[in-house]
Amino acid sequence: MATITHHLTDDLIFGYSAGTLPEAVNLIIATHVSLCDECRAAVEAHDAVGGAVLEATGDMHVSDAFLDGALALIRSARPEPAMRPIEVARDPVAPAPLRDYIGGSLADVKWRPVGMGVKQAILPTSREATARLLYIPAGTAMPDHGHRGLELTLVLKGAFHDDEGYFARGDIEIADQDLHHTPVADISEDCICLAVTDAPLRLKGLARLAQPFLRI
Ligand code: ZN
Ligand code: ZN
Repeated sequence: MATITHHLTDDLIFGYSAGTLPEAVNLIIATHVSLCDECRAAVEAHDAVGGAVLEATGDMHVSDAFLDGALALIRSARPEPAMRPIEVARDPVAPAPLRDYIGGSLADVKWRPVGMGVKQAILPTSREATARLLYIPAGTAMPDHGHRGLELTLVLKGAFHDDEGYFARGDIEIADQDLHHTPVADISEDCICLAVTDAPLRLKGLARLAQPFLRI
């Protein structure tokens, strides 16, 4: 069974637990968490500590120093990965949080071609961030691009690689303005990913012309 090696950041887990993130970001985090014991434990720890802090403080005025201390405690609550067995649900391809958005299984997804054999389906979320499923044929390279904001990519089937590493089912890549990459689907099988962006990508050449139509 494959082990997940690319996880959520503490900031994302904190935002998810606090309920401050856009719907599309919540969706991809919930989907990763449903596949990843390590991040699920971290979210549960944040929820528990966050709840205790709220209960302890009530309407009281709390100092910044107290808040900083509480936040440090919450951030340090992420357990050591070695302490838990990591089990990954191999199937179905679409984990529960995602199934609600695609109306069943991946067979129900209405794919639209975006060129080079790649297909996408934009999921219905609030517009602060966009969630899409991407279907990338085995061995196909995505356009070389940079990012104007956050891009989260979670592998549901197959795998891809780029300069940052190798990403298989359950792995999540977190890209920002500093990263420029060319993801390439593994040659062994077609790759299906859930991708979330909160700003348009930086594309070059012809791909840029199609950008408004594809909402990428
Ligand atoms: Zn994880
Ligand atoms: Zn990217």
